[in-house]
Amino acid sequence: MSKLQPVRGTHDLLFEETAKHRLIESVSLGVAERFGFREIATPIFEFTDVFSRTLGETSDVVTKEMYTFETKGGESITLRPEGTAGIARAFISGGLAQQTPLKIFYRGPMFRHERPQKGRQRQFHQIGVELIGVAGPQADIEVISLASHILADLNLQGNVTLEINSLGDSETRAFYRDALFEYLSTRKDNLSTESQERLSRNPLRILDSKDPDDRKVLIDAPDLSDYLSKESQEFFAAVREGLAHRGISFLINSSLVRGLDYYGHTAFEFTTDAIGAQGTVLAGGRYDSLIEHMGGPPTPGIGWAAGIERLAMLLPSEMEPRRIIAAIPMSNDQELLVQSLANTLRKAGYIVDIGYSGNVGKRMKRADKIKAAVAIVVGSDEVKNESVVVRNLQSGDQQVVKQADLVQHFSFLK
Ligand code: ATP
Ligand code: MG
Repeated sequence: MSKLQPVRGTHDLLFEETAKHRLIESVSLGVAERFGFREIATPIFEFTDVFSRTLGETSDVVTKEMYTFETKGGESITLRPEGTAGIARAFISGGLAQQTPLKIFYRGPMFRHERPQKGRQRQFHQIGVELIGVAGPQADIEVISLASHILADLNLQGNVTLEINSLGDSETRAFYRDALFEYLSTRKDNLSTESQERLSRNPLRILDSKDPDDRKVLIDAPDLSDYLSKESQEFFAAVREGLAHRGISFLINSSLVRGLDYYGHTAFEFTTDAIGAQGTVLAGGRYDSLIEHMGGPPTPGIGWAAGIERLAMLLPSEMEPRRIIAAIPMSNDQELLVQSLANTLRKAGYIVDIGYSGNVGKRMKRADKIKAAVAIVVGSDEVKNESVVVRNLQSGDQQVVKQADLVQHFSFLK
């Protein structure tokens, strides 16, 4: 038998944690629906090609981070490291191309074989959106605005900063890639080993490096914004203007590039310094060549994904208290009555906990432990009088309430 531990980089989400995940998912789905987005779910694994072709053969995700295995039938399968590739595949294979503009919301677990650390797991969870089929900057403004709206509804607006950049069109990037390659080639020896390898494959990715040696070399590197074509400049200006118009503040970060290939024009991230080194909570960008590259019709797209675990780290540790009623019989004789009172209250929408066993003292302790707001206690007198004793577990106050009045009595708990 294997060790009784979760696999490195994976976690059990226990009660408080699942509650945060559920809150993040339901708030974001609610906001997305108000923006006209609808949820879809693609499989958790796909043919490996789906990812290697969409994310780019040179991206970190494809070269180092994928969980790939061969099936008994000899097919190469990969656990999804992100959501966009599967959605682009579904767009092509599922005939969604007739339905543009498509506004999609998704959520679920993702898998990347990276070094686990704070805010970085091997199984993690994302919420994300894709807006497919709109070439103009309205789409960029809309999805960024949606992200900002979700963060505001989660009360996290004060904790995050929006950074944006333009990667320009493909000519812009080709031009810039050459200039950057030339600059970095003459300083190759000062780069980290990893970036030396990236230099010929994908020099743009070096801009993203957090290595201090790389950062030093990059200080005087040519600036992507100086290479933007006229159209790219206009596109970027329209995005900035649209964001400003919607009251969304942002910083321009000219070294912000997406970790994945096939991105152009707008790239953006919401970052925070409240959770340590892995400070990017939400990241996205425009991917106009991706669907065509996968073999579909030329179709523009833009989207983002947010790490649920990283967002959860920003939420307050004490979530809304659950308004629990503990139902306690004085002895076995009142057990059945307590159970039926509990069910009446549950039907009326209250959370009612029954301790199942033990004397009154033990059950009272349990009520405290689960942070119940009140206890209802039923003894032989109460059976006779068709009442219960209601004890407020914060103040210790007690009062007698008729059983028939209980549903009404507890309305303050809703
Ligand atoms: P990073 O720079 O942190 O590696 P990335 O560029 O690889 O991020 P994306 O592919 O843009 O990340 O994924 C979007 C979001 O998903 C990230 O901003 C982050 O919040 C979350 N995320 C990505 N990888 C992980 C991981 N291994 N563990 C937890 N969250 C992650
Ligand atoms: Mg990464």
